[in-house]
Amino acid sequence: MGGVGLARATILRIHLERCLAALLGVFLLYPSAEAAAEVSQAASHLSGYLKIDTVNPPGNESRGVAYLAGILDEHGIAYSTGESAPGRGNLWARLEGGDKPGLVLLHHIDVVPADLAYWDFDPLSGEIRDGYIYGRGALDTKGLGIVQLEAFIALKESGQALNRDVWLIATADEEAGGAFGAGWMIENHPEVFSDVGFLLNEGGGVQKFGEEMAVMVEATQKVPLWLRLRSVGRPGHGSAPQVETSVTRLVRAAHRIAETQFEPRLVPTVKAMFQGLAPLQAEPLAQAFADPGSAIQDEEFMLALQFETPELNALFRNTCSVTRLEGSAKINVVPSEAYAELDCRLLPDQDPEAFILELGRIISDEAVTIERIMGFTPAVSSTDTGLFEAIEATSADFLPGSHVVPSVSGGFTDSHFFRDMGIVSYGYAPFVLESVERRGIHGNNERISVENMDRGSLIMTSLLERFTVD
Ligand SMILES: [Zn+2]
Repeated sequence: MGGVGLARATILRIHLERCLAALLGVFLLYPSAEAAAEVSQAASHLSGYLKIDTVNPPGNESRGVAYLAGILDEHGIAYSTGESAPGRGNLWARLEGGDKPGLVLLHHIDVVPADLAYWDFDPLSGEIRDGYIYGRGALDTKGLGIVQLEAFIALKESGQALNRDVWLIATADEEAGGAFGAGWMIENHPEVFSDVGFLLNEGGGVQKFGEEMAVMVEATQKVPLWLRLRSVGRPGHGSAPQVETSVTRLVRAAHRIAETQFEPRLVPTVKAMFQGLAPLQAEPLAQAFADPGSAIQDEEFMLALQFETPELNALFRNTCSVTRLEGSAKINVVPSEAYAELDCRLLPDQDPEAFILELGRIISDEAVTIERIMGFTPAVSSTDTGLFEAIEATSADFLPGSHVVPSVSGGFTDSHFFRDMGIVSYGYAPFVLESVERRGIHGNNERISVENMDRGSLIMTSLLERFTVD
């Protein structure tokens, strides 16, 4: 890159740092809300839920099922439960309604482990202090689960006639891929989903941009494609290097993949996401966001984007990260086989088979083969639905002036299981989070404010009424 280009890239980078700060949620803290004098039902339910150890592995989600079941019992709401394996509990409950396609409220019971050395409090304390509820899972996703539960109970207790069934589903194993949770439910209880048309799950949230807010509703995800490169060659002694070995071939193949920048392109949901966020950006980003089709043709822009926010750069292209390497078990033995693993993430319209063929052309070595470890099918949920409209109307009521923006996640959740079934699935959480709070997701010191739980419960209840009561 030449001097002028570098200078421009640096300026762009500084702008990106300043402007994208908001998108990443790096804002200044504002004083937290005063602790509620009395603990609300939502806060106290969450506090109890956080005290229950459902760290996956091993999960022990049946403990969480028992806890949720106890609350449903108190409110006279029937439910079913099932274990996919000993201790791996799942729960589902239905409010019966009319013939319109049903709505599922989904969250996962399991949480990721917490590294106690980096936490300032016990991750299983569920303590309520200074306006926050503390514990692993507060954001991912016990907090959302409780907000869904409060709305579900409120809808039942309102006695209103529903135009469709509303399901509350709590599953195991999301953090390890969902085979013992959402995947098991679909296999073993397909009847639950036979009349379901819509689903709300984790993956969304409300982001602040100065005084403004964007309600991000996740409509699709990058599609994971996990691959294993296997290279074969003549084994031998480390003291007598050959011209080519399994390892030299593998390293070359991995290098070729790592050096490849896949062609940037714009898929419709990513375009809608960036254009939706454009009014919330300062120049020069506002312009780039408003016309992302042109912006992604600018190599310097894309490079700056990758420097500062690799997760945004990844929304414009297929990507592959080389994450694992395996060669000889002994330092003086040249092995006959060597391996590399690739975490590739495809744009939601990419044909995985065609992508694997492209990788083969890039590697260009017949001694290196590509095996598929894991892959999903691409799927996008339309935002042209009554549910999306209901989210817009509810957001206008509770978060005046907010922009509702469809979004694309670089990672994945259980939503892919349901999008594959043709169920319109949105990542949606009515929580306005500060950056410091968001870092708690899979990180340290996870917590959620009582304000978010209380307001979130009201928003979710209002959304349900709007969508399920005529
Ligand atoms: Zn989660």
